[in-house]
Amino acid sequence: MKIALLSRNPKLYSSRRLIEAAEERGHEVQVIDVLRAYMNITSNKPSIHYKGEELEGFDVVIPRIGASVTFYGAAVLRQFEMMGVFPLNESVAITRSRDKLRSLQLLSREGIGLPVTGYASKPDDIKDMIKMVGGAPLVIKLLEGTQGIGVVLAETQKAAESVIEGFMGVKANILVQEYISEANGADIRCFVIGGKIVAAMKRQAVKGEFRSNIHRGGSAEIVRITPEERSTVVRAAKIMGLNVAGVDILRSNHGPVVMEVNSSPGLEGIEKATGKDIAGMIIDYCEKANKPGKTATKGKG
Ligand code: ADP
Repeated sequence: MKIALLSRNPKLYSSRRLIEAAEERGHEVQVIDVLRAYMNITSNKPSIHYKGEELEGFDVVIPRIGASVTFYGAAVLRQFEMMGVFPLNESVAITRSRDKLRSLQLLSREGIGLPVTGYASKPDDIKDMIKMVGGAPLVIKLLEGTQGIGVVLAETQKAAESVIEGFMGVKANILVQEYISEANGADIRCFVIGGKIVAAMKRQAVKGEFRSNIHRGGSAEIVRITPEERSTVVRAAKIMGLNVAGVDILRSNHGPVVMEVNSSPGLEGIEKATGKDIAGMIIDYCEKANKPGKTATKGKG
């Protein structure tokens, strides 16, 4: 296969591992920095140029598009789809999953377990909003945050009110969420490829911290998941339309709840925690799934 790897930095662990796994299997990989690709949007022959040359003959495109370049990255990916190249994850599914609110709405519509979550732009009545999501303790999250930054635990009603007022004062978009205290500072990252969970790890926060992000000092270990968790995770990835996804769940006393479905899950944490060759599994999946024109939307929508 000839594979286009959309990545801004081929030296990053995930990119490196994908290149390695593809080359081991005899495939050709070209790394493309999406921001440097330019496109011709004509009705009969859509094309992409890169460093003065037309990109041609690709079978598969693997998007590893960073959150900060979602908009342009999705456009480049869509162009590949219009050219009939098989995308590991489709542009529509990626933009869907990058929008936390839209994701939660889609998942709730299909009955997936979620933490009770509220969202407001300019609520006139913050007290009522807090009541709506069940009262303190609450987790308040900046919509644009990653790696646990901008995720705040407000233990009392007063703290919740001030944090919400503070974030709104700086015009930040926020989610207000039920605090799943019974998760005890742990969450589970499930790695899904082609509708199956291929690896799962439990991330545990350091003592005194509720956020389990590795960047916040959390540690990871392999974990066995229950059939109920498995079914929730697989359905969540399917609802988002993602072939490859990192689905984060919390163990709540009302069953597994989905926190996030990630369309470009990192490989380093999960490969190191589980000892599995996830990059190899992704390339194996591409070999099986890749058929020209098999993109569900062909860049539509
Ligand atoms: P980010 O996308 O920035 O990592 P998350 O929403 O995943 O932010 O939150 C970071 C961490 O905080 C999670 O991994 C989890 O351990 C913890 N956390 C987030 N939301 C809740 C919640 N509602 N209840 C309990 N813990 C939570």
